[in-house]
Amino acid sequence: SSKRYVVAADIGTTSTKTLVIDRDGRVIAGHSIEYPLYTPTPDRAEQDPLEIFAAVVRGIREVIAKAGIPGSDVLCVSFSSAMHSLIAVDRELQPLTRCITWADNRSADLVAPLKNEMNGMGIYRNTGTPIHPMSPLLKLMWMNRYEPELVNRTYKFIGIKEFVFAKLFGKFVIDYSLASCTGLFNLRQLEWDEEALRVAGVTRDQLSEPVSTTHIETGLSSACAAEMGLPADTPFVVGASDGVLANLGVGAFEPGVYAVTIGTSGAVRGTVNEPLTDPQGRLFCYALKEDFWVVGGAINNGGIMFRWVRDQLATLEAEEGRRRGMDPYDYLTSIAEQVAPGSDGLIFLPLLAGERAPYWNANARGVFFGLSLFHEKKHMIRSVLEGVVYRIHSVAMALEEVGGPTQEIRASGGFARSAFWRQMMADVLDTPVTVPDSIESSGLGAAQLGLLALGEIRDFSSIHGWVRSSIRHEPNAVNHAVYRELTSLYADVYQQLKGSFDAITAFQKKHVGGDL
Ligand code: ADP
Repeated sequence: SSKRYVVAADIGTTSTKTLVIDRDGRVIAGHSIEYPLYTPTPDRAEQDPLEIFAAVVRGIREVIAKAGIPGSDVLCVSFSSAMHSLIAVDRELQPLTRCITWADNRSADLVAPLKNEMNGMGIYRNTGTPIHPMSPLLKLMWMNRYEPELVNRTYKFIGIKEFVFAKLFGKFVIDYSLASCTGLFNLRQLEWDEEALRVAGVTRDQLSEPVSTTHIETGLSSACAAEMGLPADTPFVVGASDGVLANLGVGAFEPGVYAVTIGTSGAVRGTVNEPLTDPQGRLFCYALKEDFWVVGGAINNGGIMFRWVRDQLATLEAEEGRRRGMDPYDYLTSIAEQVAPGSDGLIFLPLLAGERAPYWNANARGVFFGLSLFHEKKHMIRSVLEGVVYRIHSVAMALEEVGGPTQEIRASGGFARSAFWRQMMADVLDTPVTVPDSIESSGLGAAQLGLLALGEIRDFSSIHGWVRSSIRHEPNAVNHAVYRELTSLYADVYQQLKGSFDAITAFQKKHVGGDL
């Protein structure tokens, strides 16, 4: 085709980002439309599917206008979407629930029964989705238990991207990638999993038809086409989940190249060529294509730990940073830099929000270990930053067992703004750390998948040039030797405190109440 641009639409939890990207991976224009997250109770996190649909349509129109290109020059629109969402709709596609997001915790009490009495681990091994309240499997169990009458009225249970495609094309299709984050999809058969459906209490015909991530729909209504500023025959590529597309977008699709993201939470992800689950249940495995799978682990306590330092522990220092006209995070890292690697033997276990991978322990709590009269505030600040990297390290170790040794880390998220924190990661993991120039990794990944779907490229290696990177950190062997001693001690401390974590969490629930 002689058309020059791909439009990528990335449906996220805070906003939908649309991009116009040319064939060399250059972002010509970007547009972002935010929408609210509704939290009527502390354990709920929902969005309005119609609000999101409107943002997608308007986002596509506005980004094309911003780029100043004619709609007839658009090769395709390709999609990325947040994982684990669930909406109940009726036959007329009216939502019967809001869009229940990954962050929704209402089904937390069903985790233990599923694991202990309903073969949860076996289901995880077949589906690749950890047993966690984020999973649509648990959300469906919850609905069947607490809202059976709503379930009776439901025609289909779908995710947000399926909702958008159903609105545009009148069809219920789900790509293998998003299907593989529902907890209901068999990784090896690429089909809905009988056992998981039975446990969830749904039938195959209440779900969408699974299709490849390169599946294409065409035939927009003329009204929709006009609203988006596109010809009605523009191909829409179904695309994949934001998590696996981010790996593609940062170029982490070769053995040993792992993507590390630390925003509020954090994750380590790598690409493998067949579905692999972890016998110990520590990792997720999600589909990208028939021959590409993303394995990885997520942590709760990423950048939020540094925010806690800024807002609770080092408030005076943060204020001093602001007085000097600096970003408080930058000022705090400059203080941490005054301390040697290893914080003179102070170890922080950053488990304030409980923990996901690799131990999946909601009762874990934070610990400063090794404090002496010698230690100062600056040691505590540094040890928190180190502790977050130790967490990433322990997930990376689990990942290496299935995905092979680490060759390079591609860093992204708020932490990647700090040269100091990035170097620390290179030293702890003994691996070079690079930072891709573009931060729109999921959108770039969606655009690459779009080109593949249209047959414009043969495979992902032909878009190597898309990922530009001007920052690289090499590991320092002396520092790594120090960190190696401490990461091993860190793991010991965690193991020894397991029973005590349960006890202190029980105490907190009894005396403070609520969900600490
Ligand atoms: P989100 O998860 O909401 O997308 P970000 O990716 O923006 O968040 O990450 C926010 C986190 O990044 C903060 O909590 C902080 O830990 C970290 N961060 C932000 N700016 C800096 C900085 N200049 N130096 C070090 N860390 C930073």
